[in-house]
Amino acid sequence: MATLEINDLHARVAEEGGERILRGVDLTVESGDIHALMGPNGSGKSTLAKVIAGHPAYEVTDGEILLHLDEADVADVDADLDDEDYHWELLELEPNERAALGIFLGFQYPAEIEGVTMTNFLRQALNAKADEREELFEDEEAEEADADEDDEGYETSPMEGPADDGEIGVAEFQQILSEKMELLDMDEKFMQRYLNAGFSGGEKKQNEVLQAAMLEPAIAVLDEIDSGLDIDRLQDVSKGINALRDEQGTGVLQITHYQRILDYVEPDHVHVMLDGEVVKSGGAELAEKLEDKGYDWVREDAFEAA
Ligand code: ADP
Ligand code: MG
Ligand code: MG
Repeated sequence: MATLEINDLHARVAEEGGERILRGVDLTVESGDIHALMGPNGSGKSTLAKVIAGHPAYEVTDGEILLHLDEADVADVDADLDDEDYHWELLELEPNERAALGIFLGFQYPAEIEGVTMTNFLRQALNAKADEREELFEDEEAEEADADEDDEGYETSPMEGPADDGEIGVAEFQQILSEKMELLDMDEKFMQRYLNAGFSGGEKKQNEVLQAAMLEPAIAVLDEIDSGLDIDRLQDVSKGINALRDEQGTGVLQITHYQRILDYVEPDHVHVMLDGEVVKSGGAELAEKLEDKGYDWVREDAFEAA
């Protein structure tokens, strides 16, 4: 069980006199739950997603973003883990390190790469993640070994040899891919297409869900994956998001402006962001109330509470 815990997060545009956008965000997302983050345009939802990813356009001025893991989350890692290795401050890590720990953000991936088939792209993404993950935990292990040496004055043996490169081979990859495509109810023809090139908007969104299925993140942040989808495609994408939660226990932070997708993706929790803060949280019924009554009443409640 992984938990993404955001505490009192403040961020501004990283330039002189840059606007303050996030003003004390508190939000916790656990694996296996779908959290819908809603809010009017300009409230800071996409900024939150980008700050979680480590986007350089924003400077964090206060707060923390913690990722808590447990044994099951690191079962694949071949390193001696210490207590701290289950708890990470994402703000101290590079974007690719955050991804390696199990945070998925769709827009980190290039939109179109000429001549790269989707299968090759996905295989590279999987291998890159595995390598980065190995490195991240081994670095920790090496640092701890150094610290032990300093403290106790004895030599610890260096890491044994180069780690065998656990590259996922073509056959193994095809196997995983078939399983995931079946899970998401996707057409195999999709795979022969070049990465995103010539894909419709809807197909790109489906591709994003497929990437999330392949990388098996602990937490996936999906920003407006519902925008511009016709109803059939919306249902396909929604089915995929439900499968991420139900079949692989991913926690989903589903950012959306519209209630529509929540007819197909049943959120476990709904949050409303206003002016850079999460001002209200509830269950699925909160999304329905927003659909009926808009955001004004939330603003009034937040104003009264302040
Ligand atoms: P949402 O996704 O909820 O619509 P955003 O996070 O995209 O909101 O934007 C929140 C506010 O911050 C908006 O007023 C937007 O114009 C501003 N903003 C976001 N990113 C930048 C940036 N890089 N430079 C300047 N202003 C920005
Ligand atoms: Mg706060
Ligand atoms: Mg946005």
